[in-house]
Amino acid sequence: MRTFRASDRRRAAITCARTGRVGKRGKGQGTREKGQGGPILLLGHFDTVWPVGTLERMPLEESDGRLHGPGIFDMKSGIAVSMLAMRALHEAPGHRSSSRNAGVGIPPVVMLWSSDEEIGSGTSRTLIEEEARRTTAVLVLEPSLPGGAVKTSRKGVGEFELVVYGVSAHAGLDPGKGASAIHELARQILALEALQDPVRGLTVNVGVIAGGTRPNVVADRAAARIDVRVETMADAVLLEAAIQALRPSRPAITLAIAGGIERPPLERSAGVVRLYEQARHVAADMGRDLGEGAAGGGSDGNFTAALGVPTLDGLGPQGDGAHALHEHVLIEDLCWRAAFLAALIQSFI
Ligand SMILES: [Zn+2]
Repeated sequence: MRTFRASDRRRAAITCARTGRVGKRGKGQGTREKGQGGPILLLGHFDTVWPVGTLERMPLEESDGRLHGPGIFDMKSGIAVSMLAMRALHEAPGHRSSSRNAGVGIPPVVMLWSSDEEIGSGTSRTLIEEEARRTTAVLVLEPSLPGGAVKTSRKGVGEFELVVYGVSAHAGLDPGKGASAIHELARQILALEALQDPVRGLTVNVGVIAGGTRPNVVADRAAARIDVRVETMADAVLLEAAIQALRPSRPAITLAIAGGIERPPLERSAGVVRLYEQARHVAADMGRDLGEGAAGGGSDGNFTAALGVPTLDGLGPQGDGAHALHEHVLIEDLCWRAAFLAALIQSFI
């Protein structure tokens, strides 16, 4: 690991480490095919959803072949496995590790671990995209699917806020003079629900509503927060337009709509499929069948895939309970994952 250069950048405590002869900034741009010299980007995050102090209530614990702990599945173990894989490659017999020839036998690798993925990657997105643009492929160490399958598609995620402004009035004395923001919000929620299309994987969830002051007052304000998920960029554009096109049912009411798609979908593009096939061959050579699947949640891999950079997600260890009390990884999978990742990295030479 002598060849690593680590640095913290920007407000997000990004940890970015490089090994091997990584080309100068911009040199690898546009060279995204296997063998064309751009580095491999190992991507993930070290923040978790657990508040500080959780370890006291939920300590690292081993039982029945499982290692329990906050953030262990999503995705501390993915980082650990990456470190182990890189160490194994550097310590492998025949590897020359003098500083001049560092990286001989290993393609250039950049490891980038961010600290704000769970809250939307607001401060790290630009850096992730900058780094991804000059890479050959992005390997995301987020948890694998049940059974160990990788993720070749992820939904895009968006959030909207809809605020309805009505006209307040006495509910008993002047009901006709009011225009209820709450009643209007109820109509708009039905319109939002109608935008869903389960067959296309398009979901709309009004997750939070608020409004009104008292039962005997016609409410002049009501608001809703809405989560949307899409499988394709085309659906993201259509859905955004449909939400922006919502109109009030009567002139006394006005609507204010804010928000949008925050993470584009990770689509199963030709580049993603080629990368998956490459990984499947590596796994097959090691005696395992590597499955693939889809995930409803997004990751930072969504950003890199949306740039057209081949991205393979879900390369982290098997386990269960992301964001839940039973969060754990399967201990027997850890060594295999590290060996597989090391072999996958070497397959880019
Ligand atoms: Zn994660």
